[in-house]
Amino acid sequence: MVDLLSQYKKIKDEIDKEIFSVIESAKFIKGPVVAEFQNNLATYLGTKHVIACGNGTDALQIALMALELKPGDEVITSDFTFIATVEVIALLGLKPVLVDVYPDTFTLDTEKVKAAITPKTKAIIPVHLFGQAVDMDEIMQIAKKHKLYVIEDTAQAIGADYLMNGKSQKLGTIGTIGCTSFFPSKNLGTFGDGGALFTNDDILAAKISSITNHGMKVRYYHDYVGVNSRLDSLHAAILKVKLKYLDNYNQARQKAAEYYDKAFKNCKKLEVPLRNKKSTHIFHQYTLKIKNADRAGLIEYLKSKNIPAMIYYPVPLHRQKAYNQYNFKESDFPVTDMLSEKVFSLPMHTELTKEQQDYIIEHVLKYLG
Ligand SMILES: *Cc1c(COP(=O)(O)O)cnc(C)c1O
Repeated sequence: MVDLLSQYKKIKDEIDKEIFSVIESAKFIKGPVVAEFQNNLATYLGTKHVIACGNGTDALQIALMALELKPGDEVITSDFTFIATVEVIALLGLKPVLVDVYPDTFTLDTEKVKAAITPKTKAIIPVHLFGQAVDMDEIMQIAKKHKLYVIEDTAQAIGADYLMNGKSQKLGTIGTIGCTSFFPSKNLGTFGDGGALFTNDDILAAKISSITNHGMKVRYYHDYVGVNSRLDSLHAAILKVKLKYLDNYNQARQKAAEYYDKAFKNCKKLEVPLRNKKSTHIFHQYTLKIKNADRAGLIEYLKSKNIPAMIYYPVPLHRQKAYNQYNFKESDFPVTDMLSEKVFSLPMHTELTKEQQDYIIEHVLKYLG
């Protein structure tokens, strides 16, 4: 599904140099390269503050902690996302309120978000799934009207642009706080775990920074109950190099997506991914829907041809065992139930060659006849 080794080899000299420079400095935690990377990313995103942390899941948790949400407060998020988004809500004793998505962009259905709001709702976590935006105009209007915080889950959409009130903005910088992940396979990935939070709010930024480091500002004086969640200097050094290539990487994904689109758009058994008009799509995943054909059979066939295909996500969150306690109503999620039966994702990464794509396309179409 990804080819991280080929990607590394192209920038090996630069990366290795940065890695060895961290080792020589012996500043493995909170070294100057962490601040440097945070500044570079803030400039790239056009946001005031970037605070790095241990991973994307921690970023979401720290965001909820910094906003001082209290047990019982309701947080609205998507039923169709990676488990981390809802996990942190539950972990903090908050109440996850799952909402269905649009069938064509797989992102939060904003009408259903409106219907899910109660006096206890405190925040919305829009998930920019597979590389493109939730309708942030709508989300921000809803949030303003009901005085809600907005935490953008940008783990799959770092670098994507959104046209907000006629102005282009990077995803993750529109809401109260943006969160992202630097997991190796993400669009901006390191050689291990990493994550970050973004905000324009100075006070919130200071608090987030303190929470990531045991709730302290001054050493051994703890103002908040915090966590230990830092980005290691080695990862900051790797990410500093890879950030320079992020736009190129995202363009390579877009090019590969267009190539797939062209090959599949006339196939009656496939629906190619729809683009949200207000956002760029940076294709963290290239996800199709299958129509009147056997998805499991197709995936088996592709596997026999050494082509990996994955299902993101085979089980919507409302049907996950660990979350039974919230008694979600099956009838509230017709779209995610449908999607979990129909979606599949093809290899999508920065190093895909035309020959590889031709081979994949040939076999997908051969199976579907
Ligand atoms: C990857 C991902 C996360 C979690 O990031 P980690 O760094 O793996 O903890 C959260 N939300 C979404 C949508 C993701 O894809």
